[in-house]
Amino acid sequence: MLNVKNLTFSYNKTPVLTDISFKAKPGEHVAIIGESGSGKSTLLKVLYGEYDLDKGHTYWHDQEILGPKHNLVVGYDFMKYVAQEFDLMPFITVAENIGKFLSRFYPEEKARRTAELMEVVELTKFANIKVKTLSGGQKQRVALARALAKQPEIILLDEPFSHIDNFKKQSLRRNVFKYLKNNNVTCIVATHDKEDVLGFADRMIVLNNNKIAVNNLPETLYKNPNTPLIASFFGEFNVINDNIIYANQLKIVKQSNLKATVLCSYFKGHFYLIEGLLNNEKVFFEASKKYTEGTELFLKIID
Ligand code: ADP
Ligand code: MG
Repeated sequence: MLNVKNLTFSYNKTPVLTDISFKAKPGEHVAIIGESGSGKSTLLKVLYGEYDLDKGHTYWHDQEILGPKHNLVVGYDFMKYVAQEFDLMPFITVAENIGKFLSRFYPEEKARRTAELMEVVELTKFANIKVKTLSGGQKQRVALARALAKQPEIILLDEPFSHIDNFKKQSLRRNVFKYLKNNNVTCIVATHDKEDVLGFADRMIVLNNNKIAVNNLPETLYKNPNTPLIASFFGEFNVINDNIIYANQLKIVKQSNLKATVLCSYFKGHFYLIEGLLNNEKVFFEASKKYTEGTELFLKIID
C-alpha cells in the first residue's frame, strides 16, 4: 500500500503541494489530474524521493520513502518513475536500452523479458534500431518498457502517452494498463488526458490550488462533476441555472424554454459540436447534423 500522509512541498519557499494525503493499494491505478502547473509532475517526483519534503511522510508498505537528505541514491528498487522528459541511451538499440538494467548473468531471462516488454509497447520491429534514430513517441515507449523491465511494485508515470500519435495511442494504452493490472503493479499516472482515466483508473485525484480538490471514482466524478474544473476535464460543458450540463446532455427539441441561436458547427466524427448563444451566453451542445449560423433551436436538458 502506498500511503501518502500530509505531504507538503515547496520550491524555494513557493508552496506547490500542501497537505496531500491519499492511499493506493497494490495493483491500483490512480490518476492525478489538474491544470498545467498544478503540481502533478512535482507530486510524482516527490513520491519518488527526488526532493525532501517540508512536512509529511510517504510509505510503501512499511518502508518510508526518503528524499536526498536521508537517502544517498535517489529511488528504490520497488519503484520506477518515467519522467515527462525521458533519458535514454541514444547510441545503443531499443532492446539494449530496455534490457540495460537486467542481469546479464541470466541471458535467457533477460532476452525473454526484453521481448515481452517490446511486445507491450509495440516496438518488436525496432529491437535492433539505435534509439537516437527514433521519434519522440517511440522513445517514450522505450522509456516505459525500460521502467517495467525490473518488475517494480509501483510505477509513477508522467503523461506517459503525451508524445505518442493517435494511431498508436489507443492500443498502447490498453497494452500498458493491462500489463500493469495483470502484474499487480500499482500505478500513479499524471495526465491531462481523460482517455488515460476513463476506462482505466480506479481513482482520480484532482489537484487545484496546491491541494487535493477531490479524490473519487472517475465515474462518480463524471456523473457529479460539482465544479467547472472537474467538468472541463471530461469535455465541453455549460453552466445553466447553476447546474453543470455537458454538451451531450442538451438535446434539440421542437419547443422548450431554452432557445439557442447557432454560431458555429464543428465536425466531430459521429456528431457535430454546436456553439451557440443562450440568453446571451455561450452554449455548447451536440447534434447529429450541421446547422448554419443564425439558426434558432430549442434545447432540453436530458440526464
Ligand atoms: P504540472 O506537472 O501539473 O504541470 P509542475 O509540477 O511541473 O506542474 O509545476 C508546479 C509548479 O511548480 C509550477 O508553478 C512550476 O512553475 C513550478 N516548478 C516546477 N518545477 C520547478 C523547479 N524545478 N523549480 C522551481 N519551480 C518549479
Ligand atoms: Mg507536468
